[in-house]
Amino acid sequence: MTENQSQYRFDLLQKRWVIIASERGKRPNDFQVPKEPAESDGFCPFCPGHEDKTPAEILSIPAMPGRTNPSRWQVRVVPNKFPALRVEGQPVREADGIYDRILGVGAHEVVIETPQHHSPMAERDIEETFLLLKVYRERIRDLMNDRRLKYILVFKNHGSSAGATLHHPHSQIMATTVTPRIVSTELTSCREHHQVKERCLICDLIKQETTDRDRIICIDDRYIAFCPYASRFPFEAFIAPRFHQHDYVNASDDDLRLLASTLRDVLWRLKLALDDPPYNFVLHSSPNTRVIPRRAHYWDTIEFDFHWHIELLPRLTRVAGFEWGTGFYINPTPPEEAARFLRQIS
Ligand SMILES: [Zn+2]
Ligand SMILES: [Zn+2]
Repeated sequence: MTENQSQYRFDLLQKRWVIIASERGKRPNDFQVPKEPAESDGFCPFCPGHEDKTPAEILSIPAMPGRTNPSRWQVRVVPNKFPALRVEGQPVREADGIYDRILGVGAHEVVIETPQHHSPMAERDIEETFLLLKVYRERIRDLMNDRRLKYILVFKNHGSSAGATLHHPHSQIMATTVTPRIVSTELTSCREHHQVKERCLICDLIKQETTDRDRIICIDDRYIAFCPYASRFPFEAFIAPRFHQHDYVNASDDDLRLLASTLRDVLWRLKLALDDPPYNFVLHSSPNTRVIPRRAHYWDTIEFDFHWHIELLPRLTRVAGFEWGTGFYINPTPPEEAARFLRQIS
């Protein structure tokens, strides 16, 4: 194991992997109380004209014709300058006494969503968001060609208290050689539901929500956004196709354009209702089925039992001792009330 590469280490008590990212090499002095994102110093590495301040581009989408645009690109994807994981090496699981560890192989990319420094996703037009959703699809598809990578997560941190360290709108893509525990819990729940009922759990959830209706934020023919029955956070939203689809990569252009409209709708309502709250969103798509499964029948029903979705988590409450100690969340806003409030925003 090279000195500078990070490692996955397995937590035997909690049955989860942790990434020990030595390369980011922080000393105690480097940890300070969170500040506002570093726009105060006026320099933004993601703004047009500063392209040489990021690592070499993985993908660049040219500027959309007929629009005022400060650059020749509309979306750029670059490797993270401080990656928690690196693409080099073989992810072999090895014993370390009683412990297990794996070389920190993976991918860590940054998606610069727009050349405009002050253009939050909630305020962008549908075509721009559509382009971004297509970039996510393209990057996931490409990363899935790497058979070492078991899971590819697209996520976004908006606002410093949601973890954004730069103000310029960006999202991130993390590809890991182990399946994250939260994803694997979802996969197991979906597979078990399918084994018993021969139906997709998330299709069933959506059917229940369209029957109950009181947790729906917005709905059209193809997509639904609702506050989950057991929302962990106030105004949490779950966005999914109303038709069964296990893998985001299979979404058509027409569908992604509608998804862009739903996503923007939800973000716009949250912005108006809660005065531009910090939030995280995560895209939970199918795991990479091209990875050689080590367990029998591992992906047999994935196409039928899993259903991709986006989880949007406004960060209005702080996760504190009780949550860390128990895994419980205390949500002071019933999802029915949150949804009613968001529905009323026009
Ligand atoms: Zn910028
Ligand atoms: Zn389904």
